[in-house]
Amino acid sequence: MTVNEELNPFVIAQTQLDTAAEIMQLEPALHELLRWPIRELHVTLPVKMDDGSTEIFHGFRVQYNDARGPTKGGLRFHPHETIDTVRALAAWMTWKTSVMDIPLGGGKGGIICNPKVMSPGELERLSRAYIRQVGRILGEDMDVPAPDVYTTPQIMAWMMDEYAFMRGHNVPGVITGKPLPLGGSAGRGDATARGGMYCIREAAQQLGIKTEGATMAIQGFGNAGQYAAVLGPALLGVKIVAASDSKGGIYNPQGLDPDALIAHKADTGSVVNFAGTDAITNEELLELDVNILVPAALENQITADNATNIKAKISAELANGPTTLEADQILHENGVYILPDFLCNAGGVTVSYFEQVQNAYGYYWKEAQVHELLNEKMTAAFQSVAQTAKEYQVNNRVAAYIVAVGRVAEACKLRGWV
Ligand code: GLU
Repeated sequence: MTVNEELNPFVIAQTQLDTAAEIMQLEPALHELLRWPIRELHVTLPVKMDDGSTEIFHGFRVQYNDARGPTKGGLRFHPHETIDTVRALAAWMTWKTSVMDIPLGGGKGGIICNPKVMSPGELERLSRAYIRQVGRILGEDMDVPAPDVYTTPQIMAWMMDEYAFMRGHNVPGVITGKPLPLGGSAGRGDATARGGMYCIREAAQQLGIKTEGATMAIQGFGNAGQYAAVLGPALLGVKIVAASDSKGGIYNPQGLDPDALIAHKADTGSVVNFAGTDAITNEELLELDVNILVPAALENQITADNATNIKAKISAELANGPTTLEADQILHENGVYILPDFLCNAGGVTVSYFEQVQNAYGYYWKEAQVHELLNEKMTAAFQSVAQTAKEYQVNNRVAAYIVAVGRVAEACKLRGWV
């Protein structure tokens, strides 16, 4: 990273907003309102560990903006979580629900912890402790968490259960990404990756690129990365040639079998040492000569240091905030077509919204229906961003901001906030 490169995700999110606000000539009070979370809660959580000791954890829930509806967004368990990361992610959720035109605001939560060294019992007690503190500001019409980095449907189930105890009755719609038997939605599991593939399909069509046989490298092999490896070939006919996780990466220019790779990761805990592939680093993966790059890990992966070496034609951001401000500029100048995070990875929250609708009705849809509605939503959102990019002569990220911020700004005004 260059010495002065901005790596604070919240400053990055605010700067991205500033760029759009200037083009949109957003009035100063409205611009200032949208630069900050409406409210946030910091919690301290004592948790009994398996060895009988008590450990103290710290967590956050940020409700960024609820002008368009209840705040919505995932919950991360990560050792490097910070309040500014959560603020940035909450801001991006606000733009994400807006660009998708679903009636929700944006929020995000996080707990500073390392789930990889915690037992299931410790994780359950931590999850319940979080809800005992944060539950007071959650609700199906207030703020609705969901899975994110290192949080799972099982964690959502414990949280929903704890919330039900607090309220004295079942409230399935208070959290999404639940297991199916507890009111989860069909199609929620692969929704983030599926939405991203629909987006790539639209982008390729616009660029006149054939996806059949195109090569794809995936950085990050969690929920989004694993499903992208399966759905890329299934929906677009692409060939997966490389993947990585926090322990390292693997590469085979001839292509690799995604299902076997997922099984290998389940067995060994990593993609590393997958048969028939060469070992590469996460950094090398980003710079591979591939057609489509899918950053599906964490923020600040594509920086001023490596952006010039990126050879992909399309960067489809399944992660939140993978590209720094400087890198964004470089990629744009080099003609890399970016599918910006809060558009490209919006499939997850879109199916979360479908899950809430089904919970409210107490009636559940078939998976094919979810896919069809998701396809419709993603295609419409992509088209509105592409259209705006053309109209304003700006890149896709700025265009996505113009669409999303415009809708949130309108809601704030209609409510009489500014
Ligand atoms: N954590 C996911 C995201 O960043 C999903 C959020 C949700 O489903 O509410 O979009």
